[in-house]
Amino acid sequence: MTANTAALLIQHYVDNFRRLPWRAAPGEPAPEPYRVWLSEVMLQQTTVATVRPRFERFVERWPTIEALAAARHEDVLSEWAGLGYYARARNLIACARAVAERGGFPSTSVELRQLPGIGAYTAAAIAAIAFGERAPAVDTNVQRVIARLHRLRHAPREIIEPLLLDMLPAARPGDLIQAMMDLGATICRPRSPSCQECPLRSECAAFASGAPAQFPAPKVKRVRPHRHAAAYWTEWNGQVWLVRRPAKGLLGGMAALPTSEMTETPPRNLNSIGVVRHVFTHFSLDLHIIVASETVGDGWWQPVAGIDEAGLPTLFRRAAELVMSASERRAA
Ligand code: SF4
Repeated sequence: MTANTAALLIQHYVDNFRRLPWRAAPGEPAPEPYRVWLSEVMLQQTTVATVRPRFERFVERWPTIEALAAARHEDVLSEWAGLGYYARARNLIACARAVAERGGFPSTSVELRQLPGIGAYTAAAIAAIAFGERAPAVDTNVQRVIARLHRLRHAPREIIEPLLLDMLPAARPGDLIQAMMDLGATICRPRSPSCQECPLRSECAAFASGAPAQFPAPKVKRVRPHRHAAAYWTEWNGQVWLVRRPAKGLLGGMAALPTSEMTETPPRNLNSIGVVRHVFTHFSLDLHIIVASETVGDGWWQPVAGIDEAGLPTLFRRAAELVMSASERRAA
């Protein structure tokens, strides 16, 4: 099954290749490790459609790892604004500096794993795609496809990795991994796999079972706690007071409105003009927006008309939009 499955998958990839700015087409020289690494970091928890224009803008601004390593922390964080999961951006800078210092990316998954912010999956993906190592890079799409091919209800990485490794060819193993990622994203989708369009139908044990979507078993959903905080909008002379958040912790190092401590219950006696609800990985948050007459904390005055240039993360950008639409309504 393995060799035939791999051959069918590669052929499907060649016929249906998605041209993305960080990829090399089948048969072309492998892409630069900088672009593979950057795309993999951006794609963690973020869709291809969102990442694509942001990736292009990012590499236009910092075309090489050396250029990124020399960039100002604040500039990189601002450029990252809106992509979420800001620990990724902080690790990105640390990793770029470590790579530039050692004179380039290492070429094996074991060495890549030593770099800041590079976990087992990302190391394997860079090693396989940029350096041709037979490294089993298992993301959620790959995990689902392999679990279905083998009709596995439980599919931990320790089981999936050797099964993927068995399929990886010696030449361009990254193509097979990307082919499987694409298949999982477009055809072998979590809830409704399009088995009739799938090149692996004849090889797939889950398809043969008649209930492919039952594999693998869905993960038990965690219940997210809910939190509240206040954010202060202080405006003077067409400018709003912004602060930079502490380097460590939630939205670390990002430009923001000043906020209160988070609490489990809504703050009392607040004259809030509205609430922005935002879902983080581990909790959800109601941000109560307060128009304040005094500034809070160390910060700077940002022209309201130029607030897009401040690099606010999505939570605070939505808070700013809420305030501005409230003012427009009042002025109308
Ligand atoms: S046949 Fe269906 S379940 Fe099996 S790999 Fe293809 S899309 Fe997924």
